Amino acid sequence: NLFQPERRNSMGFDLSHRPTLDAIDAARDPFAAPHRWKAAPLLAGKSAPQAPEPVNNPADPADSPGTVAFASEADVNTALDAAHPWDAPASERAAVLNKVADLYEENFGEIFAIVHREAGKMVMDAVAELREAVDFLRYYAANAPEGSPVGTFTCISPWNFPLAIFTGQISAALAAGNAVLSKPAEQTPIISHLAVQLMHKAGVPKTALQLLPGAGDVGAALTSDPRVDGVAFTGSTETALKIRTAMAENLAPGAPLIAETGGLNAMIVDSTALPEQAVQAIVESAFQSAGQRCSALRCLYVQEDIAKPFIEMLTGAMDALSIGAPWNLSTDVGPVIDDEARSAIAAHIQQARAEGRLIHTLKSPDTGTFIAPSLIRVGGIADMEREIFGPVLHLATFRADELDSVIDAINATGYGLTFGLQTRIDDRVQHVTDRIHAGNMYVNRNQIGAIVGSQPFGGEGMSGTGPKAGGPHYLARFTRQTAPASGG
Ligand code: GLU
Repeated sequence: NLFQPERRNSMGFDLSHRPTLDAIDAARDPFAAPHRWKAAPLLAGKSAPQAPEPVNNPADPADSPGTVAFASEADVNTALDAAHPWDAPASERAAVLNKVADLYEENFGEIFAIVHREAGKMVMDAVAELREAVDFLRYYAANAPEGSPVGTFTCISPWNFPLAIFTGQISAALAAGNAVLSKPAEQTPIISHLAVQLMHKAGVPKTALQLLPGAGDVGAALTSDPRVDGVAFTGSTETALKIRTAMAENLAPGAPLIAETGGLNAMIVDSTALPEQAVQAIVESAFQSAGQRCSALRCLYVQEDIAKPFIEMLTGAMDALSIGAPWNLSTDVGPVIDDEARSAIAAHIQQARAEGRLIHTLKSPDTGTFIAPSLIRVGGIADMEREIFGPVLHLATFRADELDSVIDAINATGYGLTFGLQTRIDDRVQHVTDRIHAGNMYVNRNQIGAIVGSQPFGGEGMSGTGPKAGGPHYLARFTRQTAPASGG
């Protein structure tokens, strides 16, 4: 690795190795239901939070993994007043962040149990979640800059990567010495509470990192106060635009906004593609994590000449997916995050069914907020009005002479996050690469699961501001560019 020869990505776990699986079971079993956690604000001052509310388990309405006390207005004020940048040399900040990575790895059993029960993450997703979080910590630690921090950063993170993205934003801001006010998604407060406890235990000062669990009102308060100097946000395009407006009205003109938002991600499969490889890549990209990744494949274009046998192979592969409780090792597709998400996605599938466009669907469990993986026909990506954040794949066909107009239609959505191409024509890879607007393009593989340090992740247009997370330019945005050189 060119940038930091000492850094290695986390190895994760080999889930085909029986002793490893036994070790995972032994480590997470103490945290199975009825174990309950208590999440609350973690402030550098006295907290007066709201009354605790139950946290949901999306796979099982009879289970609650614990409670959360959301931050009050007074808590937001206390945190803003107490926030203070982390005045320690970069090498010390890096050492502490590396220690956090070690603590995360040591506590893998509890982390897995929380993300199963609170976020509906199946075992493979839980492994990936921890790996990515650890990779962010070590990557930003290895690149911790000496310069001055921007000041106080608000970090607002989503429930779909409740540890990885949460940790990625915070560790970048902290590596650069900023004070962080962190607002995790309201659905996943428990994992963020454990994460911040581990960060404090490793030595991150409490004035440099405070946790404010809450809903949109807490996020709004933390992005519209002039005591805030910058915002890192991952979530919907719509919310990013609201944050930009709030910042423009209340913060200094130069306050940075780093936003990673939605996508309408496409894949093109031409007639030369290896069908088995393409089908596997499609199933992973569309249905892993129950399609709840902003990188997930939403619209598949298959060349007309191969469409019939290809769709048959694809629906066959869908039939092999097992939908169920995240805790079970055999589960491929877990629940979607909550009932609101489930009803919106179910209504979309129902509409396609009514219009005769539902090509294939499966059966899902009766309780819990499950959505069965589904395949829906569309004329083209232009028919898709918005991102459907679940295990729903849309399919269109194209003729050989329509490749460029398909690329134009994909670009015309205004999003530009991930894109996949399956072909064995080398010139075509170059042709498409030169034309497509996407932050991350993947050829002859799946289009999810960007690896920190080697596949910096982020989009363009309505998909985000950049710089890409886990890449060489990300930290610079958390650093003051106008600071005088030391002594100057
Ligand atoms: N970085 C993730 C991936 O490559 C997606 C992040 C997101 O869903 O926000 O799959």
